[in-house]
Amino acid sequence: MTARPVEPRCAEDAERVERKSKAGSKTSYALAGKRVWVAGHRGMVGGALVRRLATESCEILTVDRATVDLTRQDTVERWTAKVQPQVVIVAAAKVGGIIANDRYPAEFLYENLLMEVNIVHAAWRSGVEKLLFLGSSCIYPKFAEQPILEEALLTGPLEPTNEWYAIAKIAGIKLCQAFRRQYGCDFISAMPTNLYGPGDNYDLETSHVLPALIRKTHEAKERGDEQIAIWGTGSPRREFLHVDDCADALVHLLKVYSQPEHINVGSGEDLTILDLAHLVAEVVGFRGKIVSDPSKPDGTPRKLMSGEKLRALGWQPLIGLRDGIAGAYRAYLDEDGKS
Ligand code: NDP
Repeated sequence: MTARPVEPRCAEDAERVERKSKAGSKTSYALAGKRVWVAGHRGMVGGALVRRLATESCEILTVDRATVDLTRQDTVERWTAKVQPQVVIVAAAKVGGIIANDRYPAEFLYENLLMEVNIVHAAWRSGVEKLLFLGSSCIYPKFAEQPILEEALLTGPLEPTNEWYAIAKIAGIKLCQAFRRQYGCDFISAMPTNLYGPGDNYDLETSHVLPALIRKTHEAKERGDEQIAIWGTGSPRREFLHVDDCADALVHLLKVYSQPEHINVGSGEDLTILDLAHLVAEVVGFRGKIVSDPSKPDGTPRKLMSGEKLRALGWQPLIGLRDGIAGAYRAYLDEDGKS
């Protein structure tokens, strides 16, 4: 464990953060001219953040995994001390769908804990002004009341298929709260819903439901299949947000949000997986049948996050689901040279 610095700079800001917190949830933080480190910039969310931040006249800092493995504390602290970011966005994580979570519980818990612990601690040591930690909607109890309010955190058992990941993310939220409480660091947490868009992962073993559907449906169309089977009964309801909308919301939060409580980032609308499969089929141009495969797990029955808190801060999404899926499908074709 690295020794504490004598005077961590964000401790000096404790009073200012406390004052802002008491003044209400909407604050004002200027990104212009700031050095902003996007940890995980090669990922789907990190990539969208880099695109979005390019319009903010700030300096974007990135480093790839070969240079700084975020699971290595000494490397992370050395790099952070050297580049002295003023803002950090923790968009690096080990991410995956149901199969990956189920198969690699050790890596999902261990690597995610290490990355967030190392980055948050290094940010505190080097006096970062603002840090945004990213979790996901899996932090909420499996049977949380819908739409899920931020207050539902830790009120019931988690969905077992991804509890390893969820526990790491809950620890990340608590870590930000602890550094805020003890040292006055302006560290905030946001929980995006299911995201999709450019840079998504289309590997059928490790991908999320929407990219998996896009790929399966495209391949079925190419082979001329008469039907595709979707995982589970098709009845679970899910919410989706385009990653560019998510990046826009996250930049908004950096500017206006400074509270210990995490905040949901979603579209505010959900649909069944079966309806989603039909929408994807329409966009892709697949005319076969869509059947369900109830032998496969469904996961949580419904997951719609309340977006009230974010809307009250003056943000709303711009990209509708059909348009978003059409753009994601074009990006999928372009990325792999399929078009
Ligand atoms: P990706 O898998 O697309 O990107 C993850 C990034 O983390 C990659 O750049 C990866 O680097 C980097 N990374 C992972 N391990 C290490 C390591 N040891 N050292 C350095 N870099 C590392 O994930 P997403 O963009 O989808 O997700 C980012 C965040 O957003 C996560 O916290 C996730 O929980 C959250 N989120 C994502 C959702 C989604 O639907 N995708 C939904 C809700 C939340 P490399 O490129 O080298 O692999």
